[in-house]
Amino acid sequence: MAVRVILVGQGLVATHFAVGIERIKRGELEPYGVPLAKYQLVYDIKDIELVGSYDVDEEKVGKTVYEVAKKAVGDILPVPETLKSITVRRGIHLGSLRGLPFKAKGLEDELGSVRAAIEALVEEWKKLQPDVVMIVATTEPAKPFHKVEDLVKAVERDDRDRLSASHAYAYAAYLYAKDTGRSVALVNVIPSPLARDDAIVKLYEEAKSIVLGDDGATGATPLTADLLEHLAERNRYVHSIAQFNIGGNTDFLALTIPERNKMKEETKSSIVKDILGYDAPHFIKPTGYLEPLGDKKFVSMHIWWKTFNGLEDELVVNMRINDSPALAGLLVDLARIGKTLTERGIYGTAYEVNAFYMKDPGPRGSKNMSRIRAYYALIDYLKKTGIIR
Ligand code: NAD
Repeated sequence: MAVRVILVGQGLVATHFAVGIERIKRGELEPYGVPLAKYQLVYDIKDIELVGSYDVDEEKVGKTVYEVAKKAVGDILPVPETLKSITVRRGIHLGSLRGLPFKAKGLEDELGSVRAAIEALVEEWKKLQPDVVMIVATTEPAKPFHKVEDLVKAVERDDRDRLSASHAYAYAAYLYAKDTGRSVALVNVIPSPLARDDAIVKLYEEAKSIVLGDDGATGATPLTADLLEHLAERNRYVHSIAQFNIGGNTDFLALTIPERNKMKEETKSSIVKDILGYDAPHFIKPTGYLEPLGDKKFVSMHIWWKTFNGLEDELVVNMRINDSPALAGLLVDLARIGKTLTERGIYGTAYEVNAFYMKDPGPRGSKNMSRIRAYYALIDYLKKTGIIR
């Protein structure tokens, strides 16, 4: 019994995931940072098997995951040799690295059209037989379609401005599931709206598959959500929230491009109104790129509120957080849950799962809630569906 995983975007998050899984299998790593590690799920962490990896960066395509990992984290972590068996394949680019200092080429450039690129992926996946496809590529501008025919038309017309790479991968995974009759779980931890796109959810329902998303909730956002819940439960009135994030990894570099930062701002800001019930003035966004900080970002937060008798309180939080391992730990659960959901006949998307793991949980229009509440709701849901034994 294996959970066969394909990674889309062999960056730092994907690399921590691949390295961490292999180290857990070798018995040299405790699964700290994996939220459900202490529960017995249908699939064990050791059942996760990496079967494929995709990127569009010319520096990575054609290299093994071992080589990519050695370069990215080799000076701080032991990189298991088992990762030599997976070679990074060429994916669909659709401009997702545009404006960044990387040389990129997509299958659509090689094969002449997006449709041909999608078909090529489907053929590869028929051989790799993934249960789970994880999107951990660079944050890109993306808009939902909501109507299946509009998505199909954009592919047919080779509309490279309208289609995001995330949508192309999501459509490829759907076609793979439909053609083979194998269910697939698409896990989208980047801000592109996929679990919030009615068209994608509908297609996945039809193909007895599931999409989980959008945008993995790690770092400061879940902590802010829990602090806001604390204040809301005590009926304290929040005047303002400031939350800064400064990091030195390529994800932060990508977010220096305004249209990409906007994608993050949207997914991070939805917590305020959903949890407090009113839209307290706030500034919550990735704020800057500072290379020496590397992957260990600096987060600062200030919340100011009115308490009983009209007096005012404030809190200030400062943290340094390893950005990518935080998300990689969540992926370990999402892979196992994703596969089991489809085996339990749960298709489309699953709000209870998204509400805990994602910053902007699908389906469209779903509310954000504090992570503490979402955690207990998730445990109940997983027990009810038999995913936690
Ligand atoms: P990264 O820059 O290290 O890696 C991204 C990788 O995706 C790169 O190798 C890049 O070449 C590749 N890529 C870009 N476009 C692609 C495409 N079209 N097809 C295939 N590969 C493509 O970034 P990261 O730190 O690994 O983060 C990955 C994603 O996870 C980001 O979008 C980020 O917003 C999201 N995310 C990260 C965190 C976190 O680190 N804690 C939290 C939430 C969301």
